[in-house]
Amino acid sequence: MVKGRKTDKEKFAGAEATYTIEAMMKDGKALQSGTSHFFGDKFSRAYDVTFTGRDNTLQYPFQTSWGATTRLIGAVIMTHGDDSGLVLPPPIAPIQVVVIPVAMHKEGVLEAARGLEARIRALGVRVKCDDSDQSNGWKYNEYEMKGVPLRVEIGPKDMEKGQCVIARRDTGEKYFVPLEELETKVPELLKAVHTNLYESAKARLEANTYTCETLEEVKAAMEQRGGFAETMWCGDLACELAMKEQAGVSSRCMPLVQKKIGACKCAVCGKPADKHVVWGVAY
Ligand SMILES: [Zn+2]
Repeated sequence: MVKGRKTDKEKFAGAEATYTIEAMMKDGKALQSGTSHFFGDKFSRAYDVTFTGRDNTLQYPFQTSWGATTRLIGAVIMTHGDDSGLVLPPPIAPIQVVVIPVAMHKEGVLEAARGLEARIRALGVRVKCDDSDQSNGWKYNEYEMKGVPLRVEIGPKDMEKGQCVIARRDTGEKYFVPLEELETKVPELLKAVHTNLYESAKARLEANTYTCETLEEVKAAMEQRGGFAETMWCGDLACELAMKEQAGVSSRCMPLVQKKIGACKCAVCGKPADKHVVWGVAY
């Protein structure tokens, strides 16, 4: 995500200021993922919303509005998902670990799987043991598609060796884990999945963000690669509109952490500019 403030053209009509988190999807397009607006006292005056102040006079409150909606779910699907389905970051996964008993009808296997489930639950982890009659292959696909971060398998051979198998959804890597190490390995791997998903998305955002000094550079970058372009901007609406018309990108935000690019000249008109803007194609 890039955190920033919207330009006047892109802000919520009537707001004093709109703030946004702009996420880059895997195709390089921007998804405005959540916005917050500062209304000042404009709306409270328009709707005659008042409160009694400490001095006993009626006053108009300053208001804010915050929007985080199902769009964020779309962002998670598009940012982390792959061809096998969802890939959920562990902190928001409804099921964080699924335990699958392999050769379930062999003696002791189901009990062993339920034992692992209880030990994982005791860690405060959201865990499910799938003891349904579906095949192992069906279960693997099912939880892969649902994006469950970790799959724990245990069967007769593992029991003999005193181990279980843990598979990561994000990388597909498998680990043979001694049963006594379950309590350390599960939290460690959940953390590793989260870190990997975050770092990959961050690296993709950085790799597809280009610093440009002119409108032509922005246009060329967008035609060749897509993603976000960063430039300086003078603040004129005409330059913002020209960027849209000629390079096909809209201003996504003015990042909260402002940079100085090149000689600090507007990428469109070349006049001195003090605003650092991120441009992109929005969903
Ligand atoms: Zn300009």
